[in-house]
Amino acid sequence: MTPKKALFLDRDGNLVHDGHHTCEPDQISLITGVKEALYACMKADYLLFIVTNQSGIGRGIFTWDQYKACHARMLELLELPQPGFIDVCVAPEHPDQPSVYRKPSPKFILECIARYQLDPRACWMIGDRRTDWQAGLNAGIRSCAVRSGAPFKEGDELYAQENGILVHTDFPSFVRNTLLH
Ligand SMILES: [Mg+2]
Repeated sequence: MTPKKALFLDRDGNLVHDGHHTCEPDQISLITGVKEALYACMKADYLLFIVTNQSGIGRGIFTWDQYKACHARMLELLELPQPGFIDVCVAPEHPDQPSVYRKPSPKFILECIARYQLDPRACWMIGDRRTDWQAGLNAGIRSCAVRSGAPFKEGDELYAQENGILVHTDFPSFVRNTLLH
């Protein structure tokens, strides 16, 4: 079997607008163009994965059930053809709690690469925060930074530059101008 290519996608600020601990389904709104971009990636044989830190669960701000309802709402809005997202990896811990999987940990990505026999050279991690980009680099895949979520913090621009991280306005721009260019 030929090794497969994949995208590891941050959720908040990348696929949906970052509502800061978004926890109600009606707070979920797609970033413009994301639906079409994901569809184009699937047509180009990219497998899709979500890798998301949801510390709101560990902080007691919302429950797993609320998270699941938000996820279901996102799927409803995206209407992706089968198979849609191959796996959804959620790290629920508070940043102060010990966590094996919370980004910038590469563990979810590495496990998916092994489980689904992905080709790391044909995989990307895309997200709006430095921890997303680091998770990708830590897993040995390429990372893309998007400006559709949290504003970049002091030093992020330089960090991206020095670590070969592409910067795009949003995920659709990455897909249009880099991935499927
Ligand atoms: Mg994010």
